[in-house]
Amino acid sequence: MSENLTRAWPSNAERLSQQGAVAERIGDLLDRLQHTPVAPQSDAESIRESLREFDFDDPADTVLVAEKVVEVMQGGMVHMMHPGYFGLFNPTVVFPGIIADIITASLNPQLAVWSHAAVPVEIERRVIQELGAFFGPEFDTGHFTTGGSEANNTAVLLALTKANSQFAEEGAKAFKGLPCLYVSAESHLAWHKIAHQSGIGRAAVRLIETDGIGRMDVVHLARRIEEDRNAGNTPVFIAATAGTTNAGMIDPLIECADIADQFNMWFHVDAAWGGAIRIIPEHSAVMSGIERADSITLDAHKWLAVPMGAGILLCKDNDLLGETFRVTASYMPEGLAALDPYTHTMQWSRRFIGLKLFLSLATLGWDGYRHLLRKSLTHSTRLAVLLSENGWSVVNDSPLAVLCFEDSDRALDLEKVVASVMADGRTWISSVKFEGRRVLRACITSHHTEEDNLIDLISALEAARVEQG
Ligand SMILES: *Cc1c(COP(=O)(O)O)cnc(C)c1O
Repeated sequence: MSENLTRAWPSNAERLSQQGAVAERIGDLLDRLQHTPVAPQSDAESIRESLREFDFDDPADTVLVAEKVVEVMQGGMVHMMHPGYFGLFNPTVVFPGIIADIITASLNPQLAVWSHAAVPVEIERRVIQELGAFFGPEFDTGHFTTGGSEANNTAVLLALTKANSQFAEEGAKAFKGLPCLYVSAESHLAWHKIAHQSGIGRAAVRLIETDGIGRMDVVHLARRIEEDRNAGNTPVFIAATAGTTNAGMIDPLIECADIADQFNMWFHVDAAWGGAIRIIPEHSAVMSGIERADSITLDAHKWLAVPMGAGILLCKDNDLLGETFRVTASYMPEGLAALDPYTHTMQWSRRFIGLKLFLSLATLGWDGYRHLLRKSLTHSTRLAVLLSENGWSVVNDSPLAVLCFEDSDRALDLEKVVASVMADGRTWISSVKFEGRRVLRACITSHHTEEDNLIDLISALEAARVEQG
């Protein structure tokens, strides 16, 4: 018993040796990764069987257990660190971000209140403000979240609180009719959960038609808002997507901002993945109008490649954050009310999420990130050329690094193409719906992707075509 407990807090020398051993095992895996399938096939029963080897009534050595876990994981997950992963924005995590998570886990600061974690709170504030400046001078507040969904949810709560001073006490019934939320039909579907969680109900989500090329149709948007007003509902919130998840399309931000102004509504921009493009001067104009948003969602755990979960909400109104998340609890240390994260965010106990981005920025620099993002864009352009040279048609026109495509004859079963590419193992793509029709999707997600991996994808696609005769 006591021998097992020495594993809880080993000596410094022991810690070092254990961390070294586990790091070596992970390093081996990463070194070999590109020669193994991106998505090894596994079934629930065999996974459960292998997990039975871990016996909580007969605990084992930390390094042994950790090495075993890494081995089991290797055969049972999609590998984001694989250069052939043309996937769903999941990051090729940068090493400084991993070091940051080790520091965070090791010292485990509590960021609920400033006075408990002064330096961590100030580190996050510094990153938020520097990032905010890329979106407009007024974005001087905000905070880290677990992900884009929490940031979007936070924005909805801000909008509802601002729109009706009784919302905090009475909830949705404070509003005349339904308090409505407007997003495009191509937006991230978490909006339905968010409406549910916010208490306005899923029926309050208005999915606005798109314009045929994947962007919110602003004529429909304005018409729907009018209809809701005439029907006795209260239009509250417009969320434009800047970089749709399936196709990287950017809603017309300026028109959406104008409509929000006209109807006195909150204007949010969900730029979870695509927003990172703002750090590149020659590309930042693709999101012109974003500076007019009341709030913006970003995900550092997507294009900026820090470990999950690291979302960000940018905002212009710190007092409103305080109004929305205010609490008084006698057992909490009295503090600098305007700076305490637990009175300005959804979370209470708070992990030091922001260190991942701070450490990565302090080591790679904004320029390092610019280099990575430009490389993704170059590969995307190159892949578009390769696809069209090989009988595939790109159907989206995104300024970001994601391509939706289909066989030029539209004769293939695209689900079977995905299955075939998956079985080939060298690369990973998905299929999505774009403007109502099934298409293939390849996003330059991995920062390790090189020309060879593009060629691998083209050859796997060709093999899939041949298979279908
Ligand atoms: C990824 C994404 C989200 C959800 O973010 P999570 O970090 O997965 O919670 C929301 N909106 C868009 C546009 C996204 O790309």
